[in-house]
Amino acid sequence: MKKLLILAIFVSVGTITAQNFDEIEIKTTKVSDHIYMLEGSGGNIGVSIGTDGALIVDSQYAPLSEKIKKAIGNITDQPVKMLVNTHWHGDHVGGNENFGQMGVLIFAHENVKERMSKSQLMRAFSREIPASPEVARPVVTFSEKMGIKCNGEYLMLIHVDSAHTDGDALVYFPESDVLHMGDTYFNGRYPFIDLSSGGSIDGIIAAADRALFVVGADTKIIPGHGALSNRNELKQYREVLSGYRNRVDAMIKQGKSMEEIKAMKPGRDTDDTYGGGFIGPDRFLEIVFNSLSGLE
Ligand SMILES: [Zn+2]
Repeated sequence: MKKLLILAIFVSVGTITAQNFDEIEIKTTKVSDHIYMLEGSGGNIGVSIGTDGALIVDSQYAPLSEKIKKAIGNITDQPVKMLVNTHWHGDHVGGNENFGQMGVLIFAHENVKERMSKSQLMRAFSREIPASPEVARPVVTFSEKMGIKCNGEYLMLIHVDSAHTDGDALVYFPESDVLHMGDTYFNGRYPFIDLSSGGSIDGIIAAADRALFVVGADTKIIPGHGALSNRNELKQYREVLSGYRNRVDAMIKQGKSMEEIKAMKPGRDTDDTYGGGFIGPDRFLEIVFNSLSGLE
C-alpha cells in the first residue's frame, strides 16, 4: 500500500511513466448494503449501486477506467450514471474524461471546475498540471452544500473550506451511514496539504471536526488514502494533527526557524507511525510551518 501511494502521488503530478497500470488490480470492499469501496491506484473510490445506476465518488487514473468499470460490473448490472469528485487532484479525477465521454454526469465543488479549467502550478512538486478537457470537468457544481437523490437516499455534498485544497467535498450517505472524506483524511498518516491550491493545516483540522460532527460510532469512513476507517480513528487523526499544529505554532511564536523546529522534533511521538506514508516527518513539518506562516 505504501508503495502504491507513493507511485500514485508521483503519477498525480505528472511523471506517468513511473507506473505500470497493467499490474494494478481493483480491490472491492462492501461497506454497507449498497455502498462499496474500490482500491486500485490513487484515491479510494466510493460506489453507490441501485436502480438509479451506479454513482461513484472519484475516478482514480484514466488507464484504470476499464478495470474500474469491470469491478463495478461485478456488483451491479446498472451502468455508471453519476460521478462526484472530492477535489481536483489527478489521482481522483484522472478517469473523469473516460466517464464523461460515457455521458456520466459529474458533480463537484465550483473550485474543482475552476482549477480543472486552467493549468495549475502545484508548488509542492514544482509541477505544472495542464487544464483538463471540457468533457472531464464537472457539469454540476455547488458552493456550500448540495443534495443528490440516488439509490434511495439523499447524499450530502458538504464543502469544507481551505482544507486539503480550496475545493474539497465530504460526501455523506445518510441511510447507509457512510462518509467519503476525500483527501481531507489520510487514514493513519500525515496528510498532504496542497497549500498552492488553497489548502491549510487549520482547514484540514476543521474538516475533521466537521466530519466528526456528522459521523456516529457506527459510521463507516472512506478516507482519500488508506484503509476503511471509523470515528475513533478519525478522532485520533484529528488529535494528532491539532497537537502537532499547536506545538509548531508555539515554536514559531518563539521566533524559531524551520530548521530549529525540525531539530526540536514536534512530531516525536507520531513521526514513526503517521510519518510512514508519502508525507514523511520533514515534509509534514514544512507543510505545517509554511501553512502557519502564510507561505505556499
Ligand atoms: Zn489530493
